[in-house]
Amino acid sequence: MLPSVLTSTPDELLARQNAALAKMTDLCERGHPFYQRLFREHGLTAADLQTVDDLQRLPLTRKRDLMADPEAFRLHLPDAPVQEQVLWDIAYTTGTTGRPTPVYSTTHDFYATIDCWTRLWQLAGIREDDIVANLFPLTAYPSGAFMRTAIQGTGALVLNAMPGAKYPEFPIQRSLDDVIALVERKRATVLGSVPSFLRRLLLRAEELGADFSSVRLACFTGEPCPNGLREDIRARLVRLGAVSPAINVRLGFTEAQSAFVECREGGPLMNPAPDLHYFEIVHPETGERLPDGEQGLLVMTHLNRRGTVLLRYVLGDITSLARDRCPECGLTTERVLQPPFRADHMTKIRGMLVNPDVIHDLLTARPEIQEYQIVFRKEDPHDPYSMDDLLVRVAIQGDAERVTRAIVAEMRDAVRVTPSVEVVDLAAIYVPGDTMKARRIIDERPKG
Ligand SMILES: [Zn+2]
Repeated sequence: MLPSVLTSTPDELLARQNAALAKMTDLCERGHPFYQRLFREHGLTAADLQTVDDLQRLPLTRKRDLMADPEAFRLHLPDAPVQEQVLWDIAYTTGTTGRPTPVYSTTHDFYATIDCWTRLWQLAGIREDDIVANLFPLTAYPSGAFMRTAIQGTGALVLNAMPGAKYPEFPIQRSLDDVIALVERKRATVLGSVPSFLRRLLLRAEELGADFSSVRLACFTGEPCPNGLREDIRARLVRLGAVSPAINVRLGFTEAQSAFVECREGGPLMNPAPDLHYFEIVHPETGERLPDGEQGLLVMTHLNRRGTVLLRYVLGDITSLARDRCPECGLTTERVLQPPFRADHMTKIRGMLVNPDVIHDLLTARPEIQEYQIVFRKEDPHDPYSMDDLLVRVAIQGDAERVTRAIVAEMRDAVRVTPSVEVVDLAAIYVPGDTMKARRIIDERPKG
């Protein structure tokens, strides 16, 4: 059963969000170093920030603010109940540059996260009778995806496969072959993974002739899953015996300890916890709030947190939101209307503006391509003023020469840049489990 907050009318939901925000800003005024300072600098008090509309008076918080001083974003409430003060866990945002930044969760926050994810898993289609294989690797920095799959409130059985780079002193990580054998032996019905990892696992499972006929659903996060990749993975699951396997994609945010989740395959992405996270869209340059339906930067406000608390935090994705009843699932919580992309996503090569998604789509649509990596570099690495070069590194099964010719021709058509193509071994691009996901884009050009 989904909670009433997801099925209430838009007015009821707004009233709940306003009440939660008023309490949140009051707590920030009492014990949040960063917002105490920001309120003061802008002549604001919590009384000025009682509704989600009032939020527009508060300047945006950027990732660089959080990275510069993560401790200043922790609430300090010495009189609060123990659950609101005890540190339960720390997640880390990685981002594309800089060191990982800690996001602190108290016991209160940890319970909230489990509640949020129980709804999310229900929306994704996980049932109590499922056996969920948690295929996220054990990584050097704790990963939200691993934890949220391992500890969930759905009642489903969870199988923690624990792939990952071996840690010599405690070599608890399983090899890819052992993970495949475990999924097969335990008859897992749901696979939770990053798409690039699952794809490699399936390539190997096909070589081994594994039986995945128990699998009915694959749940993805961590990287985009363009349609070509979705269909490639589905076809591999079918070849391994799965009958009409479904694929569910979500868009996660470490800072929210939550994700938007598809309510039907390929459909809108829903916010499972509008009582915990308020989302708005702002103009990328002016920072002004935009009406529902318009495209801009996605901004998140915590409504009920006690560890790291963020108000009007810019997540870095460009998309648009709707708040009316979803035509697919009937819920009234916010939903993302178009696939989000990173604000810093487009890149220029030889003066041409290139959308890497177009290249991803093109390469994932070719079944002969087992792995790929896109490298933006200089023709002469020692000369920063030499021409840009677009290199595609590929691992190919079959006629490498024919596939290489096809890649060159298709990319010239699609992005109007002729790439160099380098045929390499699978493991030269990505060793499954060593990192959370394959690195698909490398920009080696000097910055600035
Ligand atoms: Zn929906």
